[in-house]
Amino acid sequence: MVGKKSWRTGLLLYLLSAAALGQGWPQTKLSIVVYDAAHVGPKTVERAEGLAGTILLTAAMQSRWQAAPVEELRNLGMDFTAYTAKACQADPVSAVLRLQILPRAPAGLSPNALGFSLPCARSGVQVTIYADHVAKVSERGGPTFGRVLGYAIAHELGHVLLQSDAHATAGLMKGIWSKSDWQRAAVSIVSFSPADVRQIATLHKRTPDENATQLASLKPY
Ligand SMILES: [Zn+2]
Repeated sequence: MVGKKSWRTGLLLYLLSAAALGQGWPQTKLSIVVYDAAHVGPKTVERAEGLAGTILLTAAMQSRWQAAPVEELRNLGMDFTAYTAKACQADPVSAVLRLQILPRAPAGLSPNALGFSLPCARSGVQVTIYADHVAKVSERGGPTFGRVLGYAIAHELGHVLLQSDAHATAGLMKGIWSKSDWQRAAVSIVSFSPADVRQIATLHKRTPDENATQLASLKPY
């Protein structure tokens, strides 16, 4: 139910973003399984997924989002293995990613940390978001809770797609966002940098030229 709707929404948003950004047709489909252990609620989660999905489309990633029962988390676990960058990038990014929204961050964690990702995990949950830290950013003059959640999800998924825990000096993959970053994020879409988009394309064995050809060959009538 949610899945079919999500694909369609993603496609429509992509058409808009492709026109706006002049990028190619999405080649890579990503399924993201979402565990709402914080009980944020389906409406808010869907809003966040909508924003994150729009951001992913700017890197030619078409996302499908699916809610899953929180009970499944018990059996999933997390892969905290310290893979080298070479070992990490030797494996393709999984087409199915798992994301959990937890109610609270561990005590003592910096309030700037909205979550974390395990970009090289080969099993279990790759992305964790802390709802209480998301709420704090929103309450301190940031965008709405759903919008902050969407950015947190897109940022952490970005690490997984880039197979790296590195941060940029600007844009979606900036490590710590200032108040003005959040103010900008409230009224516009903060997205991947062109370098991030190229890196994601490379890791997914596509080139911008191939995409451009495919887009050019797509004629509606
Ligand atoms: Zn990060």
